[in-house]
Amino acid sequence: MNIAFLGLGNMGAHMARNLLEAGYQVTGFDVVSAAVERAAEAGIAPAESGEAAVRDAEVVITMFQNGQQVLDAYQGLLAAAPENTLFIDSSTISVDEARQAAEQARQAGHRPLDAPVSGGMSGAEAGTLTFMVGGDAEAFATAEPLFQAMGRKIVHCGNSGAGQAAKVCNNMLLAVTTIGASEAFALGQNLGLSDQALYDVLSTSAAQCWAVTTNCPVPGPVGTAPADRGYTPGFATALMAKDLGLAHAAIETTGTSASFGEAAYEAYRQFNELDGGAYSGQDFSAIIKTIRQS
Ligand code: NAD
Repeated sequence: MNIAFLGLGNMGAHMARNLLEAGYQVTGFDVVSAAVERAAEAGIAPAESGEAAVRDAEVVITMFQNGQQVLDAYQGLLAAAPENTLFIDSSTISVDEARQAAEQARQAGHRPLDAPVSGGMSGAEAGTLTFMVGGDAEAFATAEPLFQAMGRKIVHCGNSGAGQAAKVCNNMLLAVTTIGASEAFALGQNLGLSDQALYDVLSTSAAQCWAVTTNCPVPGPVGTAPADRGYTPGFATALMAKDLGLAHAAIETTGTSASFGEAAYEAYRQFNELDGGAYSGQDFSAIIKTIRQS
């Protein structure tokens, strides 16, 4: 099966490599040429443009930063791909944008799926991502083996947009738990606890969560968290701020009562802009710097 993988960034580069290792033929493209060169070193066939990458593809996977990039790129890609191509978008974008992209793909004679992921760069690298998928059952069945090559848990959430709906809920909760974990470590410090002692309790108690056990906001206890490498992402603050913007819009349009989600949106919006954007490229767990003075 010929797969065109577009968007070879922090996540996409690993996902494309996992498809290659599972035996698929993968052609890659990114607007950043260094990303294409790195992918080529890993064995992915480099393409000159997005359109060139999709010309002989049976499946097109996009892993871009936001919905506008997806909708812009789809204009050329949908026209360039052979008829009935499976178009999988794994970027995190709004439910409305996902439905729009799917409708455009259908009108161009293709089969669309929205399939955002959770699990971070470490999950992308290890092939242990969670895929939440929206689209029809036939397209999902065709795509499932590809998701298995890149992930561990695959959930068909419903029709087009349903994957993004699950993702926005997931990331709102992730932001809330990350701020909560940061506040717990700040309080622990002020009470004279060591990070290690608090981690040993939190990571095995009812408060256990990914924000503590994998992406712990303090360096030391996990050893492989972004905090252990100076908060290099991981998952960049700018992307979390973007996702919470999607959550904020969804909270408003649905009239949902979500005060913690709204507080997290405000906290990350401010953190992303703090000191002229000095933290926007850091992992989102760096928000502990605004909470804990150390
Ligand atoms: P990234 O910025 O590292 O990668 C995105 C890549 O897309 C960039 O290299 C960019 O140059 C490329 N791109 C943009 N427009 C393009 C186009 N028209 N053609 C080809 N390439 C194009 O971002 P990332 O961290 O890999 O995240 C990608 C998506 O996955 C985002 O929507 C993000 O919210 C989501 N996500 C990220 C993580 C994470 O931990 N990084 C986790 C889950 C979901």
